[in-house]
Amino acid sequence: MNIRLFKPSVGKEELENIAGAFERSWIGLGPNVNEFEKKWAEYIGVEAAIGVNSATAALHIALMVFRFPKGKKVLVPSQTFAATACAVLYNGLIPVFVDSDPVTLGMDLDDMKRKYDEDCVAVMPVHYAGHPVPMDELMPWAREKGLRVVEDCAHTTGALYKGKPLGTWGDFGCYSFEEKKLMTTGDGGMIVSNDVELMKDIKAYRWVGIDKDNWKTAQAYTDSNRDAMHWFYEINLLGYKYNMNDLAASIGLAQLKKLDKMNARRSEIIRMYLDGIEGVNGIQPLLPFEPEKYVYQMFSIRSDRRDELMIYLKSKGIATGCHYTPLTDQPLFKPYANNDCDYIEKEAQKLITLPLHSDLTNEEVAYVIQHLKEFNA
Ligand SMILES: *Cc1c(COP(=O)(O)O)cnc(C)c1O
Repeated sequence: MNIRLFKPSVGKEELENIAGAFERSWIGLGPNVNEFEKKWAEYIGVEAAIGVNSATAALHIALMVFRFPKGKKVLVPSQTFAATACAVLYNGLIPVFVDSDPVTLGMDLDDMKRKYDEDCVAVMPVHYAGHPVPMDELMPWAREKGLRVVEDCAHTTGALYKGKPLGTWGDFGCYSFEEKKLMTTGDGGMIVSNDVELMKDIKAYRWVGIDKDNWKTAQAYTDSNRDAMHWFYEINLLGYKYNMNDLAASIGLAQLKKLDKMNARRSEIIRMYLDGIEGVNGIQPLLPFEPEKYVYQMFSIRSDRRDELMIYLKSKGIATGCHYTPLTDQPLFKPYANNDCDYIEKEAQKLITLPLHSDLTNEEVAYVIQHLKEFNA
């Protein structure tokens, strides 16, 4: 047995779409990106979506739109991927790290409120593993304090929380199509918002300050050759080279068609894990997973014998991981971690991520469960 931790599920539909882009000979920022953006907005149930080359880029420019004065503070969880807090630093802002809720390991809202001060300008909730941050509690508080809200949805896609799609509770939602995520474009990301006014500058920020669709003008020029100003654009702000391209969007369009099916399979696998490890001594699920209700990018457990268990599983051909080392334990972020995150810094030493991807077979899941049991027998 050799069971991978994550694996993208890509095949002939993706290849066919890529072939289509080759035939058109348009593989940069083009019509496929536009189509993927439109379909993504429909899928999430949101006014607008803009494609970028990663969720890291999405988080960076989502925060940029607000033009916060340098040195202001942004509340972020300590238990997240580096990109969430990097986006804060890219903008010349200061991350204020928030500890985890002991039950869900998502951002602890009491700790968030405790760490808030008048220099805070935004909060970036991360739906960790895919489990929702209680946005119905967070949003009224954030609005009362005048904070902007950027949701990091890298671990979830399309799930509803209290009837409202995750990613549409705050000002922006940011998604990742990196290869380990729920669906992939190789690398890629999407920014969504219901606030069209806020989305206005995102197109320029993702493409060196240019906010017109050059593939459209190229087409119009070839069709009619009527307008000598077809090349014209104006640059009003400092943008980045963060656009998605048509090759990535080709893959994304095929993946989006399969997304519900892939997510349903992940839910099935999580249900098998939960049933399989119930009552096994020494391990607990990472959080109260509700796979019939939410969409999860990873499945993890807590074990007091983490390292031993990891080595044991490895010897059986089962890959594991740890998501994450809390950012407050990372040298880069330590200087900002004057407010400690004691709970997660200790608890993170128990975390083991188990294989989860939509191509896992029932036999493979049963094999992992069997070895979890044998180790803990
Ligand atoms: C993967 C991830 C990101 C970054 O996504 P990329 O598309 O790789 O830039 C951001 N936040 C979280 C929580 C992630 O897991």
